[in-house]
Amino acid sequence: MVAIKDLSKEKFVLPGTTACQGCPHVLGLKALGMVLGDRAVLVVPAGCTTIIAGLKDRASLKFPLLHVPFASGPAVATGLSSAFKRLGKYGIPVVWMGDGASDIGFATLSGACIRKDDMIVIVSDNEAYMNTGIQASGTTFWKAKTTTSPAGKKEEKKDLALIMLMHRADYVATASVGYLQDFISKLERAKEIEGFRFIHLHSPCPPGWGFDSSETVEIARMAVKCGAWILWEFDGELKISAPSRPYADKSKRLPLKEYIRAQRRFRHLSDEDIKEIEKKIDEQWKALK
Ligand code: SF4
Repeated sequence: MVAIKDLSKEKFVLPGTTACQGCPHVLGLKALGMVLGDRAVLVVPAGCTTIIAGLKDRASLKFPLLHVPFASGPAVATGLSSAFKRLGKYGIPVVWMGDGASDIGFATLSGACIRKDDMIVIVSDNEAYMNTGIQASGTTFWKAKTTTSPAGKKEEKKDLALIMLMHRADYVATASVGYLQDFISKLERAKEIEGFRFIHLHSPCPPGWGFDSSETVEIARMAVKCGAWILWEFDGELKISAPSRPYADKSKRLPLKEYIRAQRRFRHLSDEDIKEIEKKIDEQWKALK
């Protein structure tokens, strides 16, 4: 395992980014820069990251970057990967997309995965369409309030990583901006292998979820500690990752109520709702085990 202190200190997220304070994408992109540097050729569909990337003289990402239409990220990366192979150019296509793009671009995501096209896809999941006004996406947490689910989202969270696993992706992992060393180890592993590599990165968003911008890492860690976000990796076999392992034992978990009550998007939930969510979390653990 490469320690954070031993990684490159070259900055790929530049000062003056237009992201909100406490933005989880910035944390994830910094980690990506430390591991892959400019070998990562970013393919970015519409989302908060395109705002962070900026335009021309206000660009705040140093990666080579293609901004592409919403649904096309993995399809563009397929083309890039073929071109790199044919022309012998350096670079690993990295699709950096939000959960919204993974809804709207699901067909291209599924197609690239089924073909095992050579790329890394990272879905930085802030559980809603944030940059257009906090509309619910397929991965919005069950019962969370958004502008399109004012009484709480009725549908359960779509499990993208398991869906990619069922596509027989070469490498699949979940990660969290609260555990950057774990995310970095997974990026290191994804960098080493060829084929379709998928990482689902949990990315709590201060304005969208309703918590203070100083608490992004804390909220991300609470999600793992209460078992609502499970860190795992499939690399030939499926393993629960180290930060999540203690919470396989239900008695060691942080009470879900603490995670829920720390966020404005859940303010309307009753104790009964929280119990229902707890049951779903137990089922998820059982399925993964
Ligand atoms: S809305 Fe959330 S994800 Fe988007 S830039 Fe702001 S903090 Fe980052």
